[in-house]
This record gives sequence, C-alpha cells and structure tokens, in this order.
Amino acid sequence: MSTSSNSEHPSAQTQQPLPDTMALRIGRIQARMAQACARVGRDPAEVELLPVSKTFDSNAIREALALGFTRFGENRMQEVAQKAPLLEDCNVHWVVIGSLQTNKAKEVARYASELQSLDRLELAEALERRLQLEGRTLDVLVQVKTSTEDTKSGLEPAELVPFLKQLSQYPSLHVKGLMTMAVLSDDPIAVRKCFSQLRELRDQARQEGIAGISLERLSMGMSGDFELAIEEGSTEIRVGSAVFGSRAAPA
Ligand SMILES: *Cc1c(COP(=O)(O)O)cnc(C)c1O
Repeated sequence: MSTSSNSEHPSAQTQQPLPDTMALRIGRIQARMAQACARVGRDPAEVELLPVSKTFDSNAIREALALGFTRFGENRMQEVAQKAPLLEDCNVHWVVIGSLQTNKAKEVARYASELQSLDRLELAEALERRLQLEGRTLDVLVQVKTSTEDTKSGLEPAELVPFLKQLSQYPSLHVKGLMTMAVLSDDPIAVRKCFSQLRELRDQARQEGIAGISLERLSMGMSGDFELAIEEGSTEIRVGSAVFGSRAAPA
C-alpha cells in the first residue's frame, strides 16, 4: 500500500490501523453468515443477526439502530432499565437472553419484547401473572442445556417435552422455539454437537404436536461459534463482541 499521499502528515504514516467501524464489522459477519449458509445450502434470509448490546452503552445501540437493527440482546434487567429511558425516542425491542431470577419478572413484563432464557415453571408462572397485569403477551424461547458445563443454565434435554406441555397453561407466553449456549471449547466437534442436539430436540418435540406451541426458531451461535450454529440450523445468532467490539470485562 502506498503511503506517499500522507507524506505531508508524518503522524499518519505511523501505525495506520485498518478501518474498524461497526458497519464494517457487521458487513464481515454477514459475509461469514452467507458463506456458512452456502456450505449447507441454506437461504441466508433464514438466519437473523441479533446484536447483543450487554455492557455497551446507549450510544453504541444508536449506532446499530442507524444501521437498521431494532432488536437488541441483553442479559440483565437492571441494565435494560438503565438504557431504555435513554432510548425512548427510538424503536428498540429488548430481547432478554440471560438467566433470570424470578423476581425480575416484573421488569421483563414491562420492558422486554421477548425472552430467550425461559428455563423453569416458577419463572413462567411469575411472568404470566405480570403480563396479565400489564395486559400484554411475550414471545419466549425455552433455553436448553446442551453442554455439561455447570455454568450453563437451561433445562435438561429430557425435561423439554414435559416442560413445553406445561407451558400451554400460560396463555400470555407465546412459545416460538428453543435457545442454547454451546460448550466453550476449541473443539469444533464438541461445539457442533451442542447445536445439532438442540435441532434434534426441536424435531422430536415437534413430533409431539403440542397445542399452541410453534418451534420454528432456534437461537444458537455467538461471536465465536456462529458459523457452526448456522450449519446446524440456527435461525438467529446472538452476537455481541463481533458487532460492538470486545467487552471490558466478562458479563
Ligand atoms: C453475551 C452473550 C452472547 C454474545 O456473546 P459474544 O461472545 O459477545 O458474541 C450470546 N448469548 C448469550 C446468552 C450471552 O449472554
């Protein structure tokens, strides 16, 4: 690359980093999404990119809004409650992706357009009560534990079908699919297995034909593993650091 055009600005010649804007980062993610789809013959329109804005401020969210995104993943209701008033002039849909204490049901019913981490009846019960008070419904995904790591939350796979059957008692919760987090591992075979397991569980659960429950959606894949997830059938990838930059501290 020629630097001669910068010769009047010596400082510009030292350490020119590659341009790294959110638009470029998202463009690179979308290209990788399209390539993953092409490898398995999927239509890229079947896979959505959900930006995960946890730990990033309202200005970062505004930048993504300007690029056309309206749904944002967050894992703590306290953080949503802080950011929502700063973005009241925008059309933001908060997607809750973190494991929740039952006492957060009130905030979820108030702020969230969707919850992807439903993993127990106690939470469903609390959400139903709060949603009825607010006079609204909530789209939910059921989180399933596909890895054996103690830190990952979610239902045990064997509990899924009985759980889905019980969810039909809660008319304010609209079940749309399943969510998982894969094992954190350098071994792509182990990671892929988590994703294929979620897809297989979904297919088995569908065979049960549970009334009122659609399982179209599979939320799986993050910055480090989304290509494998797409190859295994993901319909939405939850991407934080690859969109917004690296987080200062793990959330
Ligand atoms: C933080 C988080 C993500 C995004 O993680 P990145 O590695 O930053 O892409 C996805 N899903 C859940 C449940 C998360 O908590």
